Amino acid sequence: MEEIRHVVNLIKEKGLYPEIKTVCSSPKPEVIIDGKKYLLFCSNNYLGLSTNKNVTNAAIKAIKKYGLSPCSARLMSGTSDIHEKLERKIAEFKKTESAIVFSTGYTVNLGIIPAMFNGLDKWQQALGINKKLDKGLIISDELNHACIIDGCHLANVDKAIYRHKDLKELEKILKDNKNNRNKLIITESVFSLDGDIAPLPEIVSLARKYNALIMLDEAHGTGIFGKHGHGLAEHFGLEKEIDIKMGTFSKTLGGVGGFIASSKDLVDFLRISARSYIFTASPAFAMMAGVNAAIEEIEKHPELREKLWDNINYTRNGFKRLGFDTMESESQIIPILIGDEKMAIEMAKLLFEEGIFALCVRYTAVPLGKARIRFSLMSTHTKKQIDYLLNKLEKVGKKLEII
Ligand code: PMP
Repeated sequence: MEEIRHVVNLIKEKGLYPEIKTVCSSPKPEVIIDGKKYLLFCSNNYLGLSTNKNVTNAAIKAIKKYGLSPCSARLMSGTSDIHEKLERKIAEFKKTESAIVFSTGYTVNLGIIPAMFNGLDKWQQALGINKKLDKGLIISDELNHACIIDGCHLANVDKAIYRHKDLKELEKILKDNKNNRNKLIITESVFSLDGDIAPLPEIVSLARKYNALIMLDEAHGTGIFGKHGHGLAEHFGLEKEIDIKMGTFSKTLGGVGGFIASSKDLVDFLRISARSYIFTASPAFAMMAGVNAAIEEIEKHPELREKLWDNINYTRNGFKRLGFDTMESESQIIPILIGDEKMAIEMAKLLFEEGIFALCVRYTAVPLGKARIRFSLMSTHTKKQIDYLLNKLEKVGKKLEII
């Protein structure tokens, strides 16, 4: 405890401890903090579905009918018709045979990755199957989200991390392991801190050439990319090529939770092998009903997505025009690279004083010296609100001599 106190105090003294804001309103473009109005540019409520009337009404109806929680794990009495309905809906939406819902997106990755390897070994032993599998190998992009990294740590197999989107390095790893038939490539579709997108067509063709499975984390792609909002796989016409589709409810779908959409065999296997699915409480009824309604909204209202893309292009062009470095962003997540930690903290602070609530992302979330302000756009932002942001960014950027 003494050491912990020392470290925490030092972080605070250096001004590096994150200042957590208490928001007293819903995740709409205008929020209330400490009794004052701020423009919200750091929510993942990309299509505004968290507060959509049809979504919240569905949740209210479910809570009235079923109560707050099943108070049980899924394998006990925690599987209701409303959980199964959502799983069928996700499978239909993601064009797969089956789907399985977890309590959070984080626990999806924590569950599936070790299950694919340790879980299979365990069941084979239990069933007396002697067929030896090739030694497992996980191949993961270096910028994959923390929960993918943590899931990989839990899997008792070799890992090969390739430089961000480096297809040459990915191919080298695959080639060096070409006779291994137990390889899994994991990538995000939209990278959560840089806002850039994975080179999916090339990854798919390498995976097919070298006989590897692909797991695609569409946390930030679902509902945003593709003609019908199915995600980046749809955008590239590769829906059938992705073996394992991962997604969360906590972004575009306006809720909390996550899922895997895949073959019926894999989903059936996860129900008895993914520890973060088996040994935790079943997700709340209202959440299942609300997320089901959110998917229906995405299906019925492509104009929400069109409005979001209009906002994305308008904002990114505005940032660039002012002279900011938006990295390789191609999505609703638009960072402005600052570099120095203290400078980024100062920038976020000045923006906040101007009524802008945006996220300062820094070490340990990104490498030292790569600190940035990360903006996320919503379809519900108005042009007037974005213009206000651009105006204040210009003022603060000039003051700090960033532009
Ligand atoms: N995957 C990615 C790419 C993410 O960005 C996140 C959360 N930011 C998760 C998984 C975890 O999802 P959740 O927050 O819903 O647990």
